[in-house]
Amino acid sequence: MRWSFRVARIAGIEIKIHVTFFLLLAWIGFGYHRAGGMLAAIDGLLFVVLIFVCVLLHELGHALAAARYGIKTPDITLLPIGGVARLERMPEKPSEEIVVTIAGPAVNVVIAAVLWIGIGLTGGFPDPQALHQTGLPMSVRLLAVNVWLVIFNAIPAFPMDGGRLLRALLAMRMNYARATQIAASIGQGIAFLFFILGLWWNPMLILIAVFVYFGANSEAVFAQMRSVSRDLRVSAAMVTQFQSLPEDATLNEAVEALLRTSQHEFPITASDGRVRGILTRDDMIAALRKSGAGTPVTEVMRTDIPSVHQSMLFERAFAVMQQCRCPALPVLDSVGHLVGLFTPENVGEMIMVQSALGARGDRR
Ligand SMILES: [Zn+2]
Repeated sequence: MRWSFRVARIAGIEIKIHVTFFLLLAWIGFGYHRAGGMLAAIDGLLFVVLIFVCVLLHELGHALAAARYGIKTPDITLLPIGGVARLERMPEKPSEEIVVTIAGPAVNVVIAAVLWIGIGLTGGFPDPQALHQTGLPMSVRLLAVNVWLVIFNAIPAFPMDGGRLLRALLAMRMNYARATQIAASIGQGIAFLFFILGLWWNPMLILIAVFVYFGANSEAVFAQMRSVSRDLRVSAAMVTQFQSLPEDATLNEAVEALLRTSQHEFPITASDGRVRGILTRDDMIAALRKSGAGTPVTEVMRTDIPSVHQSMLFERAFAVMQQCRCPALPVLDSVGHLVGLFTPENVGEMIMVQSALGARGDRR
């Protein structure tokens, strides 16, 4: 995710904080300071930081459970709306997905239980009558937060854990795509309900409704991709009619090719047919501005883009593309020659075609 800062590394997982999170802190600090001075500001900030520690532990719960099945988690990002653990892939078996999903909220249950016991041992819960003078102690507020995190995540709608759990339970009885579709529809029904309730009760629910609605949508698209591409190979979906540029080309030739074709990314190939790099439109334009049209393409091309083999599974190549956020991947044959390009547009078109066929019931 862009605009995220690395703050720590736990069990090989990078912990990142999104810049908007600091804005949230500043906003809360200001608000509390204006209302109650310095002490209130410190108390408010500490509370928010502790909430996010609980969210982080929740995400680590997912990540460590996934690690049990050999699934790595490259990073966890903390956003003002919560945490996102980016798992390398989702578990294949529904039973594994259930364990990975439950592990997050289970962490909050444990935290809440520890707080509950701690509060009980150290003098118990405050007298409700005295509350309006002192406010709730931090430990009680944190207990409430963890209970809320469990309840919120139990809502059976994507992107909450409850949605994943529902999908995994359904997937034990039907195929993954169908299970996702049903879970997504239930989620969107709940979003609709929240929206209506939000209109005359609490506007916060409207926000959640929007969040859930789009979460369900993107999850459904991803599951569709997974199911349509189950046994497809990269070669079935790659672009085979494309323009590549020789390694001795200059930006001038690249610009010509850019204008002449509808392509935005150009593979740069050596005379033996091997790929040297990929020239993207953005890099091309930036270099034109900086060093002119006579610049050799080899100075501007990206060499960090991974290539994929034509017989690789579509789903794996898709994961590679997502991980590097590459605009196009070169596709190679068994002797390492460039035979195609794998692009996000390809993926989109493949999904459209396959789901149209699937809807007619003659999917392979
Ligand atoms: Zn979770």
